[in-house]
Amino acid sequence: MTDFDPARRLRPWQRTAAGAGLLAADGTIAATIFAEMSALAIRTGAINLGQGFPDEDGPAEVLEAARAAIADGVNQYPPGTGMPVLREAIARHQSRWYGIEADAASEVLVTAGATEALAATILALVDDGDEVVTFEPYYDAYAALIARAGGVHRTVPLTFPDWQPDLDELSAAVGPRTRLIIVNTPHNPTGAVFDTATLAHIVALAERHDAVIVTDEVYEHLVFDGRHVPIATLPGARERTVTISSGGKTFSTTGWKIGWLVAPAHLVTAILAVKQYLTYVNGAPFQPAIAAGLDLPDAVFSDAAAGLAAKRDVLAAGLGAAGFEISLPTAGYFIVADAAPLGFDDGAELCRRLPDLAGVVGVPISAFVHPERRAATRSLVRFAFCKRLEVLQEASARLTALGAR
Ligand code: PMP
Ligand code: GLN
Repeated sequence: MTDFDPARRLRPWQRTAAGAGLLAADGTIAATIFAEMSALAIRTGAINLGQGFPDEDGPAEVLEAARAAIADGVNQYPPGTGMPVLREAIARHQSRWYGIEADAASEVLVTAGATEALAATILALVDDGDEVVTFEPYYDAYAALIARAGGVHRTVPLTFPDWQPDLDELSAAVGPRTRLIIVNTPHNPTGAVFDTATLAHIVALAERHDAVIVTDEVYEHLVFDGRHVPIATLPGARERTVTISSGGKTFSTTGWKIGWLVAPAHLVTAILAVKQYLTYVNGAPFQPAIAAGLDLPDAVFSDAAAGLAAKRDVLAAGLGAAGFEISLPTAGYFIVADAAPLGFDDGAELCRRLPDLAGVVGVPISAFVHPERRAATRSLVRFAFCKRLEVLQEASARLTALGAR
């Protein structure tokens, strides 16, 4: 038996993670809510509106570029920081869409999905006892990674249905011990987009307390009204911001796990020191393919967002007709729906029963909230609409069964 045996001795980070509901109380690993709900969908044959992944392929050019790269022998380890063709495409993308100028050689790092960018950043920059601020609900990986790094997770609540933070609560959460402020806009699970005043407030707080801003922008191209504003474009932000994104959502290639970060060179160096011993590198033939995708014309990006907006509208109408109260997302893959009007006050329990009740799978918002603060979001469920229209129509029809009970 080693001291890693959870039944024998919980390590400090496991105690923190268990407190945050990420591990079972004895320290054994609990499956992520996404894995659990996808398994439930497979087991029951229900329509999976839980885990966020599209059920259609993205741009043919991107898929073809990967096939060509494999055929051309791009099958061995790429450079540790990522293939130059992709780093240069990421730098061009930041300049073309946002006017952010980044040096492809020293300020761009390719990672195994946004997840590894988050992991390497948090593990590199957070020391024992450092505070990390996120908004809550939060993407589950943040809490797990902060716990693993020995950080103290502080949160700013977002409330249904508008999900915008209160700026005084934000100010109160950030202080001299804050090392990182993690900003996820467009936001998972709520689909909210933070306005520029909120972003400016975050930058001011980060400057005041010398914190680093980490932004998770994986839904940057899935904004339905207007354009995405990266926090790094605000005055004073660029030199203290790690901007993270991924090709998964933009090109419907979530299984390829090609992500990246853009940051000042000294931060990239610190993060690379961790990243090179996590995966070292990944996805050689997918790197030039995502590079090809990033150089596609504007219309490819705007058409993808418009197509997704139409899907949102179908599922929003379906959930409304089924009797849910919804908050209409302005970006991303997900709608949050309140099941209380249908008589369900426990979203987690509803999600476990939903395959039986209606043949559909969703994800409870409680999975994105610390166990002690779940009361406010108890009856909320997240449904993914990154699915074909006929699938969303069928799911909507099935969900009306809930009201007819
Ligand atoms: N951040 C957010 C907000 C996400 O929703 C996801 C998952 N789609 C990720 C990070 C992980 O991205 P990737 O699959 O590129 O690791
Ligand atoms: N980001 C995806 C979601 O929110 C899930 C990714 C995962 O399974 N870790 O559904």
